[in-house]
Amino acid sequence: MHDLVIRGGTIVDGTGGSPRCGDVAIDGDRITAAAGTAGRGRREIDARGLLVTPGWVDIHTHYDGQVTWDPYLTPSCWHGVTTVVMGNCGVGFAPVRPDRRQWLIGLMEGVEDIPGTALAEGMRWGWESFPEYLDAVARTPRVLDVAAQVPHGAVRAYVMGERGARNEAATGEDVAAMAAIVRDGLGAGALGFTTSRTLLHRAIDGEPVPGTFAAEDELLGIGRALGDNGCGVLELASDLMPEDTELAWMERVSTATGAAVTFACLQNDLDPAQWRRLLEASERAAARGARLVPQVAARPTSLLLGFQSTVHPFMGHAGYQAVAHLPLDERVRRLRDPEVRRRILEERPEFTNPILAFIATSFHKLFPLGDPPQYEPGPEESVAAIATREGRQPEEVAYDLMLRRDGRELLYFPFLNYAQFDLEPVREMLLHPLTVIGLGDGGAHCGVICDAGTPTFLLTHWVRDRRRGARLPLEHVVRRQTSDTARLYGLADRGVLAPGLRADVNVIDMDALALLPPEATYDLPAGARRLVQRATGYRATVKSGEVVFVDGEPTGVLPGQLLRGPQAAQG
Ligand SMILES: [Zn+2]
Repeated sequence: MHDLVIRGGTIVDGTGGSPRCGDVAIDGDRITAAAGTAGRGRREIDARGLLVTPGWVDIHTHYDGQVTWDPYLTPSCWHGVTTVVMGNCGVGFAPVRPDRRQWLIGLMEGVEDIPGTALAEGMRWGWESFPEYLDAVARTPRVLDVAAQVPHGAVRAYVMGERGARNEAATGEDVAAMAAIVRDGLGAGALGFTTSRTLLHRAIDGEPVPGTFAAEDELLGIGRALGDNGCGVLELASDLMPEDTELAWMERVSTATGAAVTFACLQNDLDPAQWRRLLEASERAAARGARLVPQVAARPTSLLLGFQSTVHPFMGHAGYQAVAHLPLDERVRRLRDPEVRRRILEERPEFTNPILAFIATSFHKLFPLGDPPQYEPGPEESVAAIATREGRQPEEVAYDLMLRRDGRELLYFPFLNYAQFDLEPVREMLLHPLTVIGLGDGGAHCGVICDAGTPTFLLTHWVRDRRRGARLPLEHVVRRQTSDTARLYGLADRGVLAPGLRADVNVIDMDALALLPPEATYDLPAGARRLVQRATGYRATVKSGEVVFVDGEPTGVLPGQLLRGPQAAQG
């Protein structure tokens, strides 16, 4: 008698092999059969007509704070994710001295737009070193497995103090001290080291993340800790300026240490062909023996603009600023007043930040999102195009759309990966053999983005719904967010449905699978706001042999753990 049998489903096993009909049997936390007919189970899930896949492994999240208070790590757990890797992009909460806690909160708030009030209220800070942080994470039960990476920003500020925080050059001694901390972190179970080299990532005080301008000797010096450890990943987000220089040091670090270097690879409007050069450069590096892994997103960086968001077209209008402090319902009542509306629409907005100005005024890139949300609209569906058709001003169209659903409507601004108004470049990136899927940023960008539902989008859009170009094979999409992501981080015990591997499983009704429209909620500690997105169609999610979700409802079982280091296939 097995502990659990998932009976008669269509098994897509995560290897990329063709779907097959059969049973998945589970005993304890392991899979014992994943084909054919299994004997009886103490518990059975009828999966006839349903997909059975490995649990999703999401390698790019920012739950470093949330992990200390939320055993569920929503919204990722609503989307079939059973393993997350956090600590990305050089930001996190260890190591830390007590007098720098608030500063690290400001760094996370500035870079990842996670409300500082929520972090300050939610985190209990029982640690100083990175290993102590891991111990604190390990003590909390949770619904899915988490793995951590050592963030450069925290390490640099810890070792170099104000010099590090202000991005001064590191001395040889500084580098040695930082490398020692990273080595200890990896020794205690971190899966990698992460850094930020983009001017988009700034602390709340405007200072770029510590390490943004780090010289090659600092990166190589710290990178050697990865090599000494014999495994580990270096993850980074970079402006790639200049591109060749950046790619060259990444390759040298990978060659010198044997570590994989994974860097954010997205299409941007200013240089819409850059992503292709990055893929080609990674191929050339691979031919020379280095491992550069372009980390790609499955959809645009989806900014959500509305009256509940941080960014929207009227944030620079004085008439809006006059009511901005009011609770939503009261604000909406005022915004509907024809006189208030007329005044706001007549004003010329003022912006101090050029990126915000670009987002708030580029109506040709702003779209109604709809229900179900449409993430690949044509140019004729933009707010600017609607305005032209209707003989109105785009501001007016946006204003009225944003007032729908009692002012809760969110408009869609595809910030990156949408330079040509379709997702063909993304399709090529998703098919490329050297790329890995990430960048969903679960837990982050609370005021303007929620892409943590990317795993669901991969199935709904890329496998089933896409109309404006070719779709992707189901087995490819499943492999990309299971065994491919797991393998990059050395998690050989998961990502495939095969005997002996960890029993992390999704049972999915493809006909019912859907993303719901994203929405703002005020459920973070201190009542802070975030944008979330739910899904329907996950019939069951199994984590380490325990059924943790049934039809989107948690069962209350919390079998998730902190992963310490790479995981061998056989437990
Ligand atoms: Zn990130």
